[in-house]
Amino acid sequence: MIADCLFCQIASEEIPADIVARNDDAIAFRDLNPQAPTHVLIISISHIDSAADLGTVDGAIAGLFELAASVAEAENLDGGWRLVTNVGPDAGQTVHHLHFHLLGGRQMGWPPG
Ligand code: 5GP
Ligand code: ZN
Repeated sequence: MIADCLFCQIASEEIPADIVARNDDAIAFRDLNPQAPTHVLIISISHIDSAADLGTVDGAIAGLFELAASVAEAENLDGGWRLVTNVGPDAGQTVHHLHFHLLGGRQMGWPPG
């Protein structure tokens, strides 16, 4: 837990969020500024800066993907869904705590902007 990290504070429920699901490794809550009919953030409970650091930790990543798939099913994203993570300024990462954007409910463009 990093005291001034927004997503650590959401994970510890110091800051409220619309939490839709959780497991031992990850928490899923709705993005404040949704970019699709379903836009849920899947974050690691433990503080990891980004996917660039995932090689140095173990455990959390499997639970994160498991939670993403179960939220996608609960949201009825039968037509498909996208899971994307931004690393660093060129990709547009604004919160430096590992999170995947689960997007669905509309046709996605490719490549992403
Ligand atoms: P990034 O830009 O780091 O890939 O994604 C950060 C995401 O967090 C953005 O989509 C932004 O809308 C979302 N976000 C930022 N602050 C909050 C907040 O306080 N609550 C929630 N639910 N989402 C947030
Ligand atoms: Zn954090």
